[in-house]
Amino acid sequence: MSQSASRTQAILEITNRASTSVEMTEPLGDIWGCDVFSLATMEEALSKNAYKAIKKTVQTGAPLEPATADVVAAAMKDWAIAKGAKFFSHIFYPLTNITAEKHDGFIITNSDGHAITEFTGSLLIKGEPDGSSFPNGSIRATNAARGYTAWDPTSPVYIMHTDNGATLMIPSVFMSWTGDALDKKIPLLRSNDAMNKAGSRVLSLMGETDIAPLNASCGAEQEYFLIDLNFANSRPDLLLAGRTLFGAASAKGQEFDDHYFGAIPARVQNFMQDLEDQLYRLGIPAKTHHNEVAPGQYEIAPYFEAANVAADHQQLMMTLMKATAKKHGFLCLLHEKPFAGINGSGKHVNWSVGNATQGNLLDPGDTPHKNLNFLLFCGAVIRGVHLFGPLLRAVVASAGNDHRLGANEAPPAILSVYLGEQLEQVFQNILDGKTATSETGGEMDLGIDQILNFERDPGDRNRTSPFAFTGNRFEFRAVGSAMSVSGPLIAMNTMLADSLNHIADKLEAELGAGKDESAAVLSVLKVIMEDHSNVIFGGDGYSTGWHTAAVEERGLKNIPNTADALPAFREASVKALFEKTGVLSPLELESRFEVYSEQYVMSIEVEAKLVVDIAKTRLYPAAMQYLSELSMASAGMTDMGIEVDTSIAQSIAAESSAMIDAVNRLSEALPKDGFASIEEHMHYCADELCGLMEEVRGHADTLETEVADEFWPLPKYQEMLFIR
Ligand code: ADP
Ligand code: MG
Repeated sequence: MSQSASRTQAILEITNRASTSVEMTEPLGDIWGCDVFSLATMEEALSKNAYKAIKKTVQTGAPLEPATADVVAAAMKDWAIAKGAKFFSHIFYPLTNITAEKHDGFIITNSDGHAITEFTGSLLIKGEPDGSSFPNGSIRATNAARGYTAWDPTSPVYIMHTDNGATLMIPSVFMSWTGDALDKKIPLLRSNDAMNKAGSRVLSLMGETDIAPLNASCGAEQEYFLIDLNFANSRPDLLLAGRTLFGAASAKGQEFDDHYFGAIPARVQNFMQDLEDQLYRLGIPAKTHHNEVAPGQYEIAPYFEAANVAADHQQLMMTLMKATAKKHGFLCLLHEKPFAGINGSGKHVNWSVGNATQGNLLDPGDTPHKNLNFLLFCGAVIRGVHLFGPLLRAVVASAGNDHRLGANEAPPAILSVYLGEQLEQVFQNILDGKTATSETGGEMDLGIDQILNFERDPGDRNRTSPFAFTGNRFEFRAVGSAMSVSGPLIAMNTMLADSLNHIADKLEAELGAGKDESAAVLSVLKVIMEDHSNVIFGGDGYSTGWHTAAVEERGLKNIPNTADALPAFREASVKALFEKTGVLSPLELESRFEVYSEQYVMSIEVEAKLVVDIAKTRLYPAAMQYLSELSMASAGMTDMGIEVDTSIAQSIAAESSAMIDAVNRLSEALPKDGFASIEEHMHYCADELCGLMEEVRGHADTLETEVADEFWPLPKYQEMLFIR
């Protein structure tokens, strides 16, 4: 049988696939949030007093009395059992980008052999998974295993339905026996708290008297690829590393821009509807979906929510995307760069802060120059990104995202802020000490009677900026598609908290010296602009001119890869930032550096092992088989006195030898150890192993274009990207 039989078989399977249409019988109103133990559900199930207490906890994070917790737990259990759940699980968010859960039955048996169900407040509040096998940096010795999960009442409990039944899921924090955060939720909650305290200080100095708790909001746009499982199953690189480690460019790629916002293929639409149906049941507000730039690439964007809830929902959404894709015969790729030469996937994290009394503090209104609260919060963001650009770069660093950032499809690895023309002018005026005014966008008049005129936005969009103001929020565009949004949100909230505290100190001094509010604000912001306006950039972030100017003239850092980015976690200024805001202790911060560094090294090593394996056991044999066929043909021809061209055979022989030579060098390089530091090990991976992998790939991809199609064992780009 030829090597490519599985490819041919895959195409056959896809062609003959029965369509999986999704029954959409239930109206949105009936299914929305039906699997969520929401405040509305609690109001029905609980006494007035118990409901009042839990509502206060949910909305403000106030502590819950143990007696109330018992009442809530009992109501929760009854609700879950009525929905078919036999198990409950604390779900938590360890330092990997995925979630963890440990399921326990509601069942206990009593002395006369009957089974009853039990779920107390203490079971709801605290769980105890064995914590030893989760990455924790050096927070815990290998033998120190005790870890606790604790219910986060501010993120709703829900029922997860799978083919194996229903489970009550309880969003939780995860800490060690010593009380150190082993997860991403604890620092996210602490960072929100720090931002709330600092923001309230500023607002109260600005004369606000009624100040509700401030909360960060997040709306994350998620890009992803769908590849038919029949192809994916023949690609160990896609299955184990999430990206293709080999693959010659297809004759047609994305150059026609004919996929972006194009008609969604029927099969993909079925997947999307099925997914969104499940998301609605879980109260996840999926709002937008469309084709993305690359063939086979799509986007889903839920409506924004409180950052803590949005982060949990984002994780749940990624889990459901993968599971639902399988049901529809797809592999859902969340990797940042599954295909070389084709756009990768990001996750744009839209972020704002606000409260119930002052509203969204990043909303400039029509006259931003008069909106002092807005100017202060926006100025705080500008200062934060300038001071902590390398930290923001570090929280989006991963082996996968290294392929995307700075590659003319995603923002550069230089952190700058885009404000848009109107705001840039407002802040420039503040810097120049000019009377501030705000330009408006004016009216959009196309001169066509049927099209109504509308007000143009005061600024254009800039898709080349890593950190762009988009009207009433900032959009952090450098986040990788596979990442948890928590890391970026923690960094943004914390830098904002620090800047708001700084601003509060300065305002206090200015107001104390007798200045009125607006004079005080303008003078604080003028100094911020003098120190930090270098980070504001409205031009083309992809251009080489910017790469040079950013570093040489503006003093910004261009940090191309993870090995160079992660050490930002160890910078004294970053340690001080997290310590003084109370978001991460030095030990907790260091553990993150260690875990993320190890993850980087392991990702590269897995890829390198796959490259060796696939090249040796699949590609080289295919090339040799074809070569032997060619040489037999050639010998036969020569016997008949016919002269044949041997250039292809010679090229295949040369490329195969060169590939195996690079494979051997990669094999030898892989086991090296004894590095003086994890930084050195990361650099070894980035500089040595990645280089050798590229070398192997270069030869292999040439072979793919020379070896007869029927011999090639790996599904090709054109098949994976265009057949569905
Ligand atoms: P685009 O692709 O044009 O940037 P989308 O509509 O796809 O916009 O996504 C924008 C995301 O930003 C959505 O998740 C949206 O809910 C979110 N968003 C809108 N306003 C805010 C806000 N004030 N704070 C945080 N996120 C927001
Ligand atoms: Mg966007």
